[in-house]
Parts: sequence; structure tokens; C-alpha cells
Amino acid sequence: MADVDLIRSRLTEHPDFPKKGIVFLDIFPILRDPLVFEALISHITQHLFSHTLGLSATKKIDVIVGLDARGFLLGPILALRLGAAFVPVRKQGKLPGQCIQASYEKEYGTDTFEMQADAIKPGQTVVVVDDLIATGGSAKAAGELVAKLGGKTLEYIFIIELMFLKASSKLDAPVYSIVQSD
Ligand code: 5GP
Repeated sequence: MADVDLIRSRLTEHPDFPKKGIVFLDIFPILRDPLVFEALISHITQHLFSHTLGLSATKKIDVIVGLDARGFLLGPILALRLGAAFVPVRKQGKLPGQCIQASYEKEYGTDTFEMQADAIKPGQTVVVVDDLIATGGSAKAAGELVAKLGGKTLEYIFIIELMFLKASSKLDAPVYSIVQSD
């Protein structure tokens, strides 16, 4: 089975979670099987080396930014494979030290993301990672935090992209997703 089919086969759908009318896609069955988890990490790493960096010996990804909370499961592993730093984006009030903020729209009201102010240096190249992109609000806020610190986002990476929400048009760099869902 091709790696994309293997990864897709482990996603499970949960109707009416976390509330009525939402069909939640769960990625955790992927992480329960080390072979499938490895296929996922290898797929993303190969994409980053061959496509994002274009197999260049001189170009480099300096920082992987992972979004609260499931981006934390993928980001540090990808960072180690790439020889990059890992930087978390967290919900407001969770990170110590001086932080910068960016707000984004949720279904009801707004939420605020934070990043530590010294986490990215001007000119560093960044890839943002999370499990799923829906409206793109959280990814856009993460991109704003990177830009505020002078970083350059090369790409946004997700396991799943909800295509009908057309989130990629809101972002300042291309989106790469392994599984596209309607
Ligand atoms: P957005 O900001 O793009 O509207 O929402 C994306 C965020 O919501 C991500 O952090 C993602 O983890 C979470 N999310 C929304 N719906 C789902 C879902 O069906 N499955 C999973 N795994 N995460 C979801």
C-alpha cells in the first residue's frame, strides 16, 4: 500500500464531536502504529527535502513551528530529522518570558496564539506544521507571529486539508497536505 493510502486508511471519523454537526477526523490511530507513524514522518521529511528545499545543498529549513496542540506531536520529530529548531505556538498564557501575540477567529469569538519573542531570528526560514487545516485561522495567526519576528515561512504542512474551506488562499506561503477531504 502506498504511504498516502496507508496514512488515510488510519484516519477515523467521529460524527457530532466535539459538538453536534461536526465530523471530527482523528489522527491518533496513526500514532498507535509505529510503521504508519514512521510512514507519515518519512513522507513529510521527503517532501520537505525534495520539494520545499528542491534537493538543494545550500538551502535549509531553520525552524519548524508546531501549533498547539497536535502540531507538537509532529513538529519536534520533523525538526530532529531536518536538523532544525522546534518552536511551539501556544494558546495565550502558557509560555514563559516575553511573548508576542496574534489573534484569530474561532467559530464563536476570537482566540490568541503566542510565541516566545526570541524564538525566531530575522531571516530564518520556517515551516509551520499542524494535524489539520480547516478555516486556516490558526495557521494564519502562526504565520503572522513568524513574520513579526522577521522569519520567512516557506510552507504550511498538514496531514489533512478540508478543501471546501479554501484556507490556503489566506496564507502567505503554499500549503502541503497529505490527505484532502471535502
Ligand atoms: P482552523 O484554525 O484551520 O479553522 O482549525 C484548525 C485547528 O483545529 C487545528 O489546530 C486542528 O487541530 C483543529 N481541528 C479542527 N477540526 C479538526 C478535526 O476534525 N480533526 C482534528 N484532528 N483537528 C481538528
